[in-house]
Amino acid sequence: MALRKLIAGNWKMNGSLDGLSELDAIAEAAATHSAVDVAICPPATLIAVAVARQPGLAIGAQDCHSAATGAHTGCLSAQMLAEAGAKMAIVGHSERRTDNHESDAEVRAKAVAVINQGLTAIICVGESAAQRDAGDAVAVVTQQLDGSVPVEADGARIVIAYEPVWAIGTGRTPSTADVAEMHSAIRARLMALLGEGGAAVRILYGGSVKPSNATELMAVADVDGALVGGASLKAADFVPIIAAAASI
Ligand code: PEP
Repeated sequence: MALRKLIAGNWKMNGSLDGLSELDAIAEAAATHSAVDVAICPPATLIAVAVARQPGLAIGAQDCHSAATGAHTGCLSAQMLAEAGAKMAIVGHSERRTDNHESDAEVRAKAVAVINQGLTAIICVGESAAQRDAGDAVAVVTQQLDGSVPVEADGARIVIAYEPVWAIGTGRTPSTADVAEMHSAIRARLMALLGEGGAAVRILYGGSVKPSNATELMAVADVDGALVGGASLKAADFVPIIAAAASI
């Protein structure tokens, strides 16, 4: 089943009020290429103002806490993100799994919180270079899926982002054969975990996606879009990626 592709930008800890002008061309491209879903996840401080600037563009968050309220200084709940206008939230990004020691169980709890607010959870998984070199990439990602995906969830509310850690921000990407192998393994695991609902889950590829490699990556079977870091910061880079996805 061909799913609508989603091209989501993760601005990480980048961006400013001035930088939100980039959203204008991105929103225009999203409207032009209406067969593709487009989202930008700016820093949380910019969510509400990004929504106000481009109400037609899906704006998301980069993380959320699993609790609704409470003594969690500096954290934001899914409810707060929804109130700010977010339509989705990334959970379990490898930078958070590493920097904040987030476990699969925490990632799953965050995903549940996101879904319960009516938002879409983009759940990130991916192996390290050492794990791939040891031949363990599929086993590692399968284990992350088993621990991080809420099995009771509606498949349409979940997106998986396969992001090999060694490909993030490095300019390196797996071969298209390796991407195909991993996305097929992820699809099979989602079907095992969610039943027929697993067919509705979009599986994004992330890691050094740029205009020059987007077409070949987006053409791989079971690649239902991209999670884009560095190349999402400027419309000049991000718009051609949206166009590449729309051309498949
Ligand atoms: C990311 O961190 O989600 C990412 C894919 O980054 P980049 O595109 O810069 O590799």
